[in-house]
Amino acid sequence: GAVDIECEMLVLGAGPGGYSAAFRSADLGMKTVMVERYPTLGGVCLNVGCIPSKALLHVANVIEEASHFADVGVAFDKPTVDLNRLRAHKEKVIGKLTGGLAGMAKARKVDIVRGYGQFLDAYHLEVALTTGSGSELSGEKKVIRFQKAIIAAGSQAVKLPFLPDDPRIVDSTGALELRQVPKRMLVIGGGIIGLEMATVYSALGARIDVVEALEGLMTGADRDAVKVWEKQNLHRFDKVMLKTRTVGVTCRPDGILVKFEGENAPADEQKYDLILSAVGRSPNGKKIGAEKAGVHVTDRGFIPVDKQQRTNVPHIFGIGDIVGQPMLAHKGVHEAHVAAEVAAGQKSFFDATIIPSVAYTEPEVAWVGVTEIEAKASGRKINVAKFPWAASGRAIANGCDYGFTKLIFDEETHRVVGGSIVGPNAGDMIGEIALAIEMGCDAVDIGKTIHPHPTLGESIGMTAEVFEGTCTDLP
Ligand code: FAD
Repeated sequence: GAVDIECEMLVLGAGPGGYSAAFRSADLGMKTVMVERYPTLGGVCLNVGCIPSKALLHVANVIEEASHFADVGVAFDKPTVDLNRLRAHKEKVIGKLTGGLAGMAKARKVDIVRGYGQFLDAYHLEVALTTGSGSELSGEKKVIRFQKAIIAAGSQAVKLPFLPDDPRIVDSTGALELRQVPKRMLVIGGGIIGLEMATVYSALGARIDVVEALEGLMTGADRDAVKVWEKQNLHRFDKVMLKTRTVGVTCRPDGILVKFEGENAPADEQKYDLILSAVGRSPNGKKIGAEKAGVHVTDRGFIPVDKQQRTNVPHIFGIGDIVGQPMLAHKGVHEAHVAAEVAAGQKSFFDATIIPSVAYTEPEVAWVGVTEIEAKASGRKINVAKFPWAASGRAIANGCDYGFTKLIFDEETHRVVGGSIVGPNAGDMIGEIALAIEMGCDAVDIGKTIHPHPTLGESIGMTAEVFEGTCTDLP
């Protein structure tokens, strides 16, 4: 058939994986085309993920903090919320970033083709062009011939089959639209995304129930950190139902009735004004015609890749959410650089030993590398050192002395292999522990590094000194 566009590098999807891959490819001299069905670049992360959620969480933090200020002698009125302005603020934040990306693409001469892409074979992609503010098909098609390709088509929210179609039942994308502040809200799924959105809606005035099939919230994080989080968040929730599932949902004009089953299920049906389903994300591998290109896709829709991000078809690479867990933007960006560099003939490979995770809740919970849970499961011999923020001057001054910093050391080498922080700004601090792990630091390296005083970050140095037995800041 006729070819409309020729390129050296085709990137499918313009999320953090896709745009990073496209920019690096262009910087390395390849004529690059990026295909994206939506009108703005940035994918889930910028448009309906990391960024809008953090814009709203910042607002939630300020509301939460102000609500305690009467205790220190400064009282604010109860907040009044103008949802239209809050939504406009969020859109403005997104617009700044997606607009910036468009400029960067232009500066690098990355061509953006707007449409829905499907592989025709291992060297051709057909794009059904899209238009308008969403991804409406325009009816027009274009065929791109490429020499190499990077698949960065991402993931989407898992849809529970028993949830009816109703505007009051939303996924994270719908929740971020902020159409209403419900009186009672059910969050299905106690993972990071569910709890971040619960934090936002609770700060805006909703009462929240959380239902989680597993035995704990935020699985992956160490339990002592989650316990601190739970204690600080008790006031937001009417019920946290662990080991419980929703089994029936009936939509009525006056509310949505939900039946539960499991260890902590209430006997009666509960009525909600809004339900957020946040039970995980599923990769888009089965929706891009990968089989026509000969690219292997797993039953669940993931595309397996090697350390150089190559799929089973050597000139086609995969990056980001579509290649596997953890589904995090910073992982996708690193994979993107590897894929582009390998495609350009460089000897890169993905060799990060650890990838940090952060719940940007209030307080934040951040962890990286080996956790106590993992060490226990694998039988790895570790030492744990913990610095309670009750001994941190800055934490006391800031009213967050409930937090802690924890480091995990290899028992034999005393090298740091993991860490957790719970408290405000934990996410901003966890990068230091990640660097220490990547650099092979031991407790002395960390403890003898002079951290600025008084900061929450100096707790990392103090934790290392707790391990060494040289910490003088503990009572
Ligand atoms: P995506 O961002 O999913 O982008 C894929 C792009 O490909 C999309 O724009 C899609 O439209 C496009 N596409 C797909 N198929 C086609 C096709 N056939 N043709 C054309 N275009 C196509 N991660 C963090 O690291 N930190 C956070 O704080 C964080 N918060 C989050 C909060 C929420 C509410 C959600 C939902 C996610 C959050 N994430 C966070 C996860 C993060 O958003 C993802 O890991 C990241 O966006 C994945 O990047 P990606 O490039 O793989 O794919």
